[in-house]
Amino acid sequence: MTSSEELFQRARALMPGGVNSPVRAFGSVGGTPPFMVSGRGPYLTDADGREYVDLVCSWGPALLGHAHPEVLAAVHAAVDRGLSFGASTPAESDLAELVAGRVGAVERLRMVSTGTEATMTAVRLARGFTGRNLIIKFAGCYHGHLDGLLAAAGSGVATLALPGSAGVTAATAAETLVLPYNDLAAVEEAFAARGQDIAAVITEAAPANMGVVEPGEGFNAALSRITAEHGALLIFDEVLTGFRTGYAGYWGLTGGAPGASAPFVPDLLTFGKVIGGGMPVAALGGRADVMDYLAPVGPVYQAGTLSGNPIAMAAGVATLTHATPAVYEFIDARSAQLSAAVSEALSAAGVDHSIQRAGNLFSVAFGTSAHGVRNYADAQAQESFRYAPFFHAMLDAGVYLPPSVFEAWFLSAAHDDAAMEHILSALPAAAKAAAA
Ligand code: PLP
Repeated sequence: MTSSEELFQRARALMPGGVNSPVRAFGSVGGTPPFMVSGRGPYLTDADGREYVDLVCSWGPALLGHAHPEVLAAVHAAVDRGLSFGASTPAESDLAELVAGRVGAVERLRMVSTGTEATMTAVRLARGFTGRNLIIKFAGCYHGHLDGLLAAAGSGVATLALPGSAGVTAATAAETLVLPYNDLAAVEEAFAARGQDIAAVITEAAPANMGVVEPGEGFNAALSRITAEHGALLIFDEVLTGFRTGYAGYWGLTGGAPGASAPFVPDLLTFGKVIGGGMPVAALGGRADVMDYLAPVGPVYQAGTLSGNPIAMAAGVATLTHATPAVYEFIDARSAQLSAAVSEALSAAGVDHSIQRAGNLFSVAFGTSAHGVRNYADAQAQESFRYAPFFHAMLDAGVYLPPSVFEAWFLSAAHDDAAMEHILSALPAAAKAAAA
């Protein structure tokens, strides 16, 4: 028995499914998940001493690669000053300044610890600001595990083929309208019918939790226009895309870059993952008049014992400081190289597929070459059974892919030529496994 098998057995006796986040259990691909003990650059090492090229990158945060020396130095220095004070610290403003300097739509920012908290607070804030109850979300978008947004959610909810979650009351579910992604007519219809009651539309800046789906041309801008026309807010969830798809996130890619005149400005944005460089940091930000509805200035309550934690802030500041435009150019190029190689290997093995792309984020969908994946129905209709053999062939060859077809592949600034070579050489056999 391998060490990972022993560790998984032990963990299963202690934790539901042996994990603290469902997709880690390998439910949709089968097998024993390797237990990781260290990471450096583009590599992870498991408890059996096996090394993998990592294409999960902690589900996004490890933009600079694992154990980046400058990030570790900043964290060590902060640790030496103490772990948590429950009082304000200078680093909170350092990180907020970095975020606002890159994303002009952020006039005020509130730090929290997880993406779920960020979207949960954004939803409460939108309701408090507008005095309305209904929230529109799109099927296949994942915004964290808050009750109201689990209906037809992507990520682990999609991986486990759940329609939503037990434990969410009918009354809560009734306050969320779930619409098909990329369907503006459905949004217009919902506002025509219930516009007076809709507090906000929440959308992933570019969906990456039903696999990657590119927003149609002008889709996000139209959401901004429609919400504004009806006195509702647009919550732009950049937890996954923020500071990963570019210097100013996905909004930056689509016109919101510093100095550009943006075609639309989201009312609220949520961030997570890269903003903390691997430590538990997330945030919500946006229009000052809306953000000032938060306590202690306004009537919408939100708080956190560890919000703005100094160690986490130090990791975020160091990560964003080193996430220069050159880093994004590098990751963009690596993403283009890898996605082209995956497509080539699958085509050579006769596997029908589409590369799903939004900026430098990509995923692979099977049996979808006719029109790609435009929404959750397309994502669910794909030949997802091809992913498990593909995944395991890559894992056996020492490449750690996301253990679900519904997740994006993540690269980092540390994915050097040797790491890329390793991945590319594993692809032909994996493609053949997918064909079987
Ligand atoms: N929003 C998006 C777009 C996400 O991808 C995620 C997590 O993957 C979340 C919110 C929730 O973030 P967290 O897992 O930190 O609660």
